Amino acid sequence: MADPAARIEELRAAIRLHNHRYYVLDEPTVSDAEWDDLMRELRALEATHPDLVTPDSPTQRVGADTSALFSPVTHLQRMFSLDNAESPDDMAVWEERLERVLGRAPTGYSCELKIDGLAVSLVYEDGVLVRGATRGDGTTGEDVTANLRTLRSVPLRLLTDDPPAVLEVRGEVYMSDAAFARLNEQQAAADDRAFINPRNAAAGSLRQKDPQVTAGRELDIWVYQLGLVEGGPGFGSHGEALAWLSDTGLRVNPASVTVGSIGEVMTAITSAEERRHDNGYQTDGVVVKVDDLLDQAELGFTARAPRWAIAYKFPPEERTTTLRDIQVNVGRTGAVTPFAVLEPVFVGGANVGMATLHNEEQVHFKDVRIGDTVVVRRAGDVIPEVVGPVVAARIGTEREWAMPTECPFCGHPIVRPEGEKVARCTGGLVCRSRLREWLAYFASRGGMDIEHLGYKTIDFLIEEGLVSSPADIFTLAPEAFEGREGWGETSIGNLMAAISDAKDRPAAKLLTALGIRHVGPSVADLLVGRFRSLLTLADASEEEIAGVEGIGPIIATSAAEWFAEAENRDLVERLAELGVRVDDPEPDGPVSDALAGQTFVLTGTLEGFTRDEAKSAIEAQGGKVTGSVSGKTSYVVVGASPGSKATKAESLGVPTLDEAAFVELLGS
Ligand code: NAD
Repeated sequence: MADPAARIEELRAAIRLHNHRYYVLDEPTVSDAEWDDLMRELRALEATHPDLVTPDSPTQRVGADTSALFSPVTHLQRMFSLDNAESPDDMAVWEERLERVLGRAPTGYSCELKIDGLAVSLVYEDGVLVRGATRGDGTTGEDVTANLRTLRSVPLRLLTDDPPAVLEVRGEVYMSDAAFARLNEQQAAADDRAFINPRNAAAGSLRQKDPQVTAGRELDIWVYQLGLVEGGPGFGSHGEALAWLSDTGLRVNPASVTVGSIGEVMTAITSAEERRHDNGYQTDGVVVKVDDLLDQAELGFTARAPRWAIAYKFPPEERTTTLRDIQVNVGRTGAVTPFAVLEPVFVGGANVGMATLHNEEQVHFKDVRIGDTVVVRRAGDVIPEVVGPVVAARIGTEREWAMPTECPFCGHPIVRPEGEKVARCTGGLVCRSRLREWLAYFASRGGMDIEHLGYKTIDFLIEEGLVSSPADIFTLAPEAFEGREGWGETSIGNLMAAISDAKDRPAAKLLTALGIRHVGPSVADLLVGRFRSLLTLADASEEEIAGVEGIGPIIATSAAEWFAEAENRDLVERLAELGVRVDDPEPDGPVSDALAGQTFVLTGTLEGFTRDEAKSAIEAQGGKVTGSVSGKTSYVVVGASPGSKATKAESLGVPTLDEAAFVELLGS
């Protein structure tokens, strides 16, 4: 095994360098997860070699030294870091330690979201904000008072007639996801570099020499901790203190809960993790604090962190890795999108070897280069993406990428029309990649819903030359598969049956499956509702299409252009010849015109009808159903648990019908 003393020194040097980049320069070169790995290794080595622990080790210190850009501020009470946990076992170990010191279990725990921003301290004297500082090394921070004063959520004066002589509080300055997106849009418009993530943008925005810049940056604060209090109320618990801080006008996160046991703490953590992406801002864990302040005093602090608190960290969603190459995909509409080929990395619970780069413009805006160290993000169900390059890690051998001029799948030119963001392959269905994506879309649930026809089968069909257009799917015979590896009688039978079933899908499904730009399921419904047949639609002029209620000019142009292409018309005609349904019969006309000219609004639940049935019953007699009540409404049909429409009807004097009266009206 390598010399532990040497490895310890190596780790310390690396962590110190990363701390300086992260806390002072706001320009980290590794993700938090990588930093955590280094720190974990150092901690483990120091635990097995306690004689090698030195007071200046990063495990014994908070943060980093301050920058010379700001005046130093001595905190009234030290600001600390937090010990970390990442499993229920870690929490059990923590609980044991608490019980050992206290001689019993704590009476309660406060569970708070761990906001991913930067820690600051605010000092109020006689209720007036006098100082704001970053955490720095915990003892000395940076004076950012002028900048913090620009945050609308930092009160300049407390909302109390009886403020303490001195009140020091701690909180996290952060940037919401929406503000972060807006900031990066502005950066793009000004041709400036994109910020990597909201935490980095928040730190960079607060630690500005010019407070005007901070003022333009939409920062917010959540206050989560008391520091020194002089001449103020006393508190028994942390929860009480938070409630009082909130009453004085400080912004305290409402998602905090106080619970009685570590079991309940774990439930709170699970629920916070499930809702991790619903907050509108980034969180990287849950901070758990012993609630009773006397217990806290007894537990005290280590050199770096309180013993009475722990940060339960969620699994990391960002990691750094090497960008090996940038390649392109051609989608079903011919759109050419770049994607990243990465040195595989475990992030967001999965191994990621490829990630999206969105489009050509994004690659250039983010200035991502082949060979770069990049930040990769995989959050929840969202597909993995390259967030951006770590510019500070460049060594000069990275290569800029350019969109290829020819499609790598079919050799046809790739063009990007003036003013458009997306480049397109001009190869049509000759392009293997485009064909593959189109077939997958055509067969998908939203399209023709052909079970058993996924990418694997599609690849087989294309490779064997069995399919070169969606229509070819309906020419497939069982013989084509017989004797092929992986194709038994059952799987062939299943596929054939699914294809045969698909022939009778409603015409609107087929229209959607054709993948015409801007023609999704609801537009397809409108178009089929008006033209009844795709063959009639194919003959319609752009004006006629635009004349359909609910269809705008962009959709009309797109549909008309698509049908104007001879090969597209041929495709629809061929589908029809192969027995695929291309039209829907006229709906049954009204059986009477008893309700002609009358308008109905439905609210609440009817016993004898679903909404759709009630609507059909009215329309069958020539009436109309609309969604909102106005003076022109003839009747409002009121079922059980009606909504506000019933009240509105009353206030407008529109007659209402209960279910019995409605049935009677239909019957007459
Ligand atoms: P920490 O982030 O693990 O925990 C302490 C911090 O949590 C507090 O200072 C406060 O800012 C924050 N916090 C958020 N919500 C809180 C709440 N409700 N109550 C109390 N505190 C709350 O520890 P740290 O010392 O600030 O920093 C270590 C972390 O910073 C690492 O885990 C890593 O994620 C990151 N880091 C990254 C790099 C890098 O190069 N990428 C370098 C240094 C540190």
